[in-house]
Amino acid sequence: MRIVVLAGGIGGARFLRGLKAAAPEAEITVVGNTGDDIHLFGLKVCPDLDTVMYTLGGGVHEEQGWGRADETFAVKEELAAYGVGPEWFGLGDRDFATHIVRTQMIGAGYPLSAVTEALCARWQPGVRLLPMSDDRVETHVLVETDGERKAVHFQEYWVRLRAAVPAHAVVPVGAEAAKPAPGVLEAIAAADVIVFPPSNPVVSIGTILAVPGIREAIAEAGVPVVGLSPIVGDAPVRGMADKVLAAVGVESTAAAVAAHYGSGLLDGWLVDTVDAGAVAEVEEAGIRCRAVPLLMSDLAAATRMAREALTLAEEVRA
Ligand code: GDP
Ligand code: CA
Repeated sequence: MRIVVLAGGIGGARFLRGLKAAAPEAEITVVGNTGDDIHLFGLKVCPDLDTVMYTLGGGVHEEQGWGRADETFAVKEELAAYGVGPEWFGLGDRDFATHIVRTQMIGAGYPLSAVTEALCARWQPGVRLLPMSDDRVETHVLVETDGERKAVHFQEYWVRLRAAVPAHAVVPVGAEAAKPAPGVLEAIAAADVIVFPPSNPVVSIGTILAVPGIREAIAEAGVPVVGLSPIVGDAPVRGMADKVLAAVGVESTAAAVAAHYGSGLLDGWLVDTVDAGAVAEVEEAGIRCRAVPLLMSDLAAATRMAREALTLAEEVRA
């Protein structure tokens, strides 16, 4: 079985770990979000690709959900001693090495897809990890601070401002001119199942879908497309997805997120058991829906979720 998963960072990565366990024989291609990418200290940082790579490769900081296990921060401290920031973005020493290798390869002319493949040669994530595009796409958020509207990089909004200022729009800058990375459209066309994990619907999956050709390829693939809600009990399980959903005019409910993707894209949708009341509404919108436990408290729970997603996919295929 060939499975394509569109993934952001932590929600995508933890689900993928379960999917690998649920379908050990499957060939899994991950299309990763690169809208969160940022240049810091002259280095190219790809937070979502790295979260997937470290999580599946066994190098992630478990409790935090991103970054490296057993991390130290000597470089960051030395930079701070020079007064060189930003101090709000925490890059550890081990993590720095990844960004140095990536930046060096990009400087030598390799596209991000080739760089990602090279980094994965070390981590062996057990999936084929592709960036959504080799072209630069940067998510910006139109925020209001001190009565003034301005666009800031997604990381500045998310990490420095902690999504605590009003956001009026989310714009994947560069997306309209970006091309899907080599292999992305081919993987979608060859897929038996396409899965939207419980990643952020706006700034993770929404950004991937904003790359021209990807949404169309998924809609036309003619195979089951199933998703899992990142919203449980009308709130994100982790983080501040409700803020970016509000910025694009979508309510923070499992049903509203399904409707946001729409029946033109989604065939099946899993909501948490606490949201069982939303099943009828989702089904009325033309999307097959089931309520099952959706908290990835451990690998076993994530594996059960992945199994439910694959079962739902077979149900809509029939
Ligand atoms: P990010 O790029 O690191 O923010 O990660 P993603 O976009 O992949 O995933 C973020 C989303 O994952 C958030 O909106 C969370 O609500 C969701 N999430 C995290 N843990 C869980 C979980 O255990 N269950 C569900 N259903 N969603 C989760
Ligand atoms: Ca992200």
